[in-house]
This record gives sequence, structure tokens and C-alpha cells, in this order.
Amino acid sequence: MATTTAPSLEAVPMLSNGKWTELKAKRSGDVYNPSTGKVIGRVGYATAEETGRVVEAAAAALPAWSNTPVVERARVMFRFRALLEQNFEELAAIVTREHGKTLAEARAEVNRGIEVVEFACGIPSLIMGEVLPNIATDVDADAIRHPVGVCVGITPYNFPFMVPLWMFPIALTCGNTFVLKPSEKVPLSAVRTGELLTEAGLPDGVFNIVHGDKECVDALLDHPKVAAISFVGSTPIAKYIYERGTANGKRVQSAGGAKNHLIIMPDADMDQTVKQLAASAYGCAGQRCMAGSVAVAVGKAGDPVVQGLVDYAGKMRVGPTDGNEGVDMGPVIRAEHRDKVASYLDIAKSDGANVALDGRRDFKSEGFLLGPSVVDRVKPSMRVWKEEIFGPVLSVVRAGDLDEALAVGDECEYGNGAVIFTRSGYAARQFKQHFNAGMIGINVGVPAPMAWFPFTGWNRSFFGDLHIQGSESIQFYTRQKVTLTRWPKSDDSHLDPVWRESRK
Ligand code: NAD
Repeated sequence: MATTTAPSLEAVPMLSNGKWTELKAKRSGDVYNPSTGKVIGRVGYATAEETGRVVEAAAAALPAWSNTPVVERARVMFRFRALLEQNFEELAAIVTREHGKTLAEARAEVNRGIEVVEFACGIPSLIMGEVLPNIATDVDADAIRHPVGVCVGITPYNFPFMVPLWMFPIALTCGNTFVLKPSEKVPLSAVRTGELLTEAGLPDGVFNIVHGDKECVDALLDHPKVAAISFVGSTPIAKYIYERGTANGKRVQSAGGAKNHLIIMPDADMDQTVKQLAASAYGCAGQRCMAGSVAVAVGKAGDPVVQGLVDYAGKMRVGPTDGNEGVDMGPVIRAEHRDKVASYLDIAKSDGANVALDGRRDFKSEGFLLGPSVVDRVKPSMRVWKEEIFGPVLSVVRAGDLDEALAVGDECEYGNGAVIFTRSGYAARQFKQHFNAGMIGINVGVPAPMAWFPFTGWNRSFFGDLHIQGSESIQFYTRQKVTLTRWPKSDDSHLDPVWRESRK
């Protein structure tokens, strides 16, 4: 929510050319602690002009950084990784404080981010080119990778630490400079990350942070010195970023929202499956792009799945997470978001579904809390099935057989991920081969994006060509140069006569 007043709260600084400055912004937003419902910071929103200056700082740092030997660029990442380990608990605590996820979830997030740094430390091997000698008589061919230039990362609120790390460690080690525009809802993790990068010895201007909303983002999309944009967020904004960025001639990889299906075959181990369904749907209070959102119970799996979920989720401990380890699920990001998520329970009822577990409870806390919900007898025509809710609500669709369950995926506009629980290799193979999604889990509740593989979202969960992370990220953050070389046998009369004599 943008405001014009400036009470004395922690002002969130931006980083440009190695200097931390407070934006003297006319517009700013509140940063909350979702566990307490209290405002803990104020973040100024950069104007287009201020944003442009940050891009210029990144552009000025580019020639020296891209010319820095690749092994030295990797060494900065090795030092950065050591600092992340040393400051691990502090980083997790910041994530919990500004986002609201449990400390265990925050620690897992920090670990996943560190894995991307580990991937990027291998850049000398990852960025190697290709050579084909004698492609024609006496002609050799090689392809080498160059950085693309100034890269931008625009990130969502749900992984304040990890999602920026999906991007900049790889972009930087490839020889690019970087401007990060973190979510204005959770800017504090990014600030601590920037401090640690500086401590690791990254030169001024190589990594920069600018805060803001649409005005700032549009300035990044339009700036002629921005070469590439990585975006993660909701589908409407992902599509907008992709269209405006590519219209301006930039490379864009743009990851959007999701509606992930979890198929439960009747032969699945029900106790284990229910636990995994709950972890998938209610982990991080359902605010994950890989969260299970629709359980598709096949045949006689239906009743035990619903009953098991109601029993299990009904006992989950929901509460404030900041400084509190004894909690299974924390708050959602804002009061308005909690109310929006809860409104889907009424929408589901009026559309004819059965709310088997209603997460609305009297929590006696100012935090943005909402318990886990289970909505049964959902049909593909209902809003609760079609729309991304991004909260702790799990819909259950009943399917007659595997083919019917597979067909449910074909109706879905998203395609981030899908999971099957089964003991049947045949069912698992059919699912892997035919389900309409890019990230597949077989008896794994969350097919999480891993640093060494691209995050292969499909359909309206991704706009672009080269995905984030893994080998595709190396391609995204570099451009290739192919050289054909022939060295004709030369007349050596131009050489030093003494040396020429010595060769005889
Ligand atoms: P969001 O789209 O509202 O915001 C993402 C970023 O876009 C933020 O930095 C924000 O400042 C900026 N932004 C918002 N509105 C804008 C506008 N009109 N013009 C320009 N920029 C704008 O997303 P969110 O609510 O922060 O995050 C949740 C969403 O992110 C969910 O839809 C979730 O599925 C998705 N997500 C996807 C992935 C993935 O890898 N596919 C990963 C994490 C989250």
C-alpha cells in the first residue's frame, strides 16, 4: 500500500555503485511483520529517474567486471557462500520476520539459495565453449560465451531470499552486472544479501538494489542499457513483463503463477500421502508457486484422502512464527491477502463445493493468520479450481480413473508442477509422460526447483524460452560468438633475420 507520510521507522536503503542510500521518495510502502501485524519498516519507491541512475551504475561497472578472469568471479562467489553459511541463522530470521513462514521453512529457503551459489561457483566449467577443429580444410571453429550486459531481477514476496539467488549468482559469474528489484513487501532479506556480497569483495556497481513498484519496474523494462530481465511473480504481471521487455528488444525469462495438481491413486500409502499432501498444500501457508493446490483423488482414494486431510490439518499448530519454533504454519503476507484467501471458502460453498475443513478461527493474535482448509467435491468449472488462491486452501476433485485424472490437467491454464502418489510404475509412467505440467513429482509432494536443473514451468506459468536456473540459465545470461579460423602457411621474410637463420 503506497503512502506519502514518513514516520520514524527502519528506512530500507537501496544500493547503487557500492553505496547504500535512503531514497528521498515521494511514495513509499510499509514493510510488515506478518506474525505481529505491525509495521517494521518503510521502503521508498524509486522514480523512473532514480531507477535509471541505478542502471547507469551497473552499466559503468560492466567493462571491468566482464573482463575480470572467470576464476576470480567464481572466487567472489566462494567467499559469498562462506558468508551465507556464517550468517545462516540471521538470514533465516530475517525471512521469517518479513515474510511470516516458519523458521524451519526459512532455513530450507536459505539452504536452497546457497545451492544456487554452489552451482555458480562452478562457472569456469559451466561457461566453457566448444571447439571443432578442421571443420573445413585447415579451418577450425569455436564457440565462446560472452556476458549479455546489465541484467535485472524482479522478484516476488514469497521467497524473499531464495528467488533473487536463482538469478544473480549465475548472472554475475557469467560476467554481467545486476540490478535487483525485490518485492516491496519483503525488501529486508535483499538488503542483507547485498551487504554480504560487498563483504565478499564484489566491486562497486556490479550488484545493485532498487526498490519500487510499477514506475520503477517500467523504467527497468524500458531502459536502453538493460540487456536481460528475469522475472518471478504472478501470471498477469509475468505476461506484461515478457511483452514489454521483449518489445524493447531485451531477453526475458518470466515465471508466473500456478495451480498444481496432486493425484492420489487408490494404491498409495494413505498415511504417508496425507502427510505429504498437507506439507505440499500448507507449507509456507500455501504461498509457494509449487504448492499443491488441487488434490485429484482417484476411485476409492476419495474418502480416506478427505478424512485424512481433515484430521491431520485440523491438528496443525497455526500461529506467529517470529521467534517461535513450535508452529507448523505461520501467517500469510498481509491482512487483505488473508481475507481474499478466506473469501474463496464462501465462493466454493456458493458454487456447490463442500468445505470439509474451514481454516477461519479466532486466533487471538494481530498476525495475519488463517488455518488450513479442505474443500471437497470441487468441479473443474468452479473458481476455487480455476484460480490461483495462493493460501492454505486445498481443493479435492474426485476422478473415476487414471485417465480422468490426467485429463484434469489438460483443462488447467497453468503448468508449473504436478505430483502423483502411487505404488504402480505404470501409473507413474503414464503420469510423467502425459500430465500437462513442466515439473513432475512421483511420491514427492513438492517437485522443488533444484539449482542444477532448469525450473521448467509450462503454459501460463512461464513466458519465454530459457528457464531460470541450471544449464538454461547459463545460456540465458550469455551470448555466443562463433569464430572460424584459418592460418595460411606464411612466407617468413618479415621475421627477424637472426631468428630465421637459426631455424635453418
Ligand atoms: P506479483 O506479480 O504481485 O509481484 C512480483 C513483482 O512484480 C514484485 O517485485 C512487484 O513489485 C512487481 N509488480 C507487481 N505489480 C506490478 C505491475 N503492475 N507492474 C510492474 N511490476 C509489478 O507477485 P507476488 O504477489 O509478489 O508473488 C506471488 C506470485 O508469484 C504468485 O502468483 C506465485 O505463484 C508467483 N511465483 C511464481 C514462481 C515461479 O517460479 N513460477 C515462484 C514464486 C512465486
